[in-house]
Amino acid sequence: MPHDIAAASAFLPPAAAQALLDRRAAVRARVDGAARAAGRDPAGVTLVAVSKYHPAASVAALAAAGQRDFGENYVQEALRKQAEVADMTGMGPDAAPEMAMAGGATPRWHFIGHLQSNKAKDVVGRFALIHTVDSESVARKLDQRLAILPAQGAGGVAPMQDILLQVNIGDEEQKSGVDPDDLPALAEAVLALPRLRLLGLMCMPPIFDDGEASRPYFARLRELRDALSARVGLPLPHLSMGMSHDVEVAVAEGATIVRVGTDIFGPRPARL
Ligand SMILES: *Cc1c(COP(=O)(O)O)cnc(C)c1O
Repeated sequence: MPHDIAAASAFLPPAAAQALLDRRAAVRARVDGAARAAGRDPAGVTLVAVSKYHPAASVAALAAAGQRDFGENYVQEALRKQAEVADMTGMGPDAAPEMAMAGGATPRWHFIGHLQSNKAKDVVGRFALIHTVDSESVARKLDQRLAILPAQGAGGVAPMQDILLQVNIGDEEQKSGVDPDDLPALAEAVLALPRLRLLGLMCMPPIFDDGEASRPYFARLRELRDALSARVGLPLPHLSMGMSHDVEVAVAEGATIVRVGTDIFGPRPARL
């Protein structure tokens, strides 16, 4: 895509745009290589560029160069950045529920931060996928909010929200995520809510320097997904796992969505 750098340079100085595109390409190559090594189709792994703390101009530059998926952790920062990117690029957020990788570079936003019940109303309909539902109360709040949103499109389609359930895979006291033992009950409660579409599971293992150390956690998430899928009779196709330091291991263990910040954008600046 030789025109990429020209498109990205509309938003960043050319050298910075080139460096950003090069880092993104290197991460994509790592993901693709890990997929092929595992006998998987690289197109089956979505790369979410985690832009928390990074400016809208960097998102706009990547989006102009064809990067589709972006992840944010903090509701206010995310909504502000979505509006800034839409202003800069003329491309509004694409909250279309399908995870299919259609053409075009309209940013598709993912919410990957801890979601409090009182913020649920602010995220509904503004993110293609919410990765971090971890309680029935948050799920209910999302569903209630969807009920009062206007129907979309010519056919008057009732709005739906695609979600993943975040699992506290490392059994860590401080971490968000549902306890693996409570996952089936939470999934069944979510499946009873008419406006949420459950597509899979997400996890964030305890941080290690060595990406290989994440492997048992990723394998466990896949096993939990397989068991849950059999139990509820739904495919639950997505596993959101893998970050800068362990993305190859995640892909080897079946990730369909990886979330990479530092290795694409560089070290995070002070919080915006
Ligand atoms: C920040 C963050 C990432 C990206 O982490 P890096 O190590 O910068 O790649 C991925 N997932 C979640 C949930 C995050 O909060």
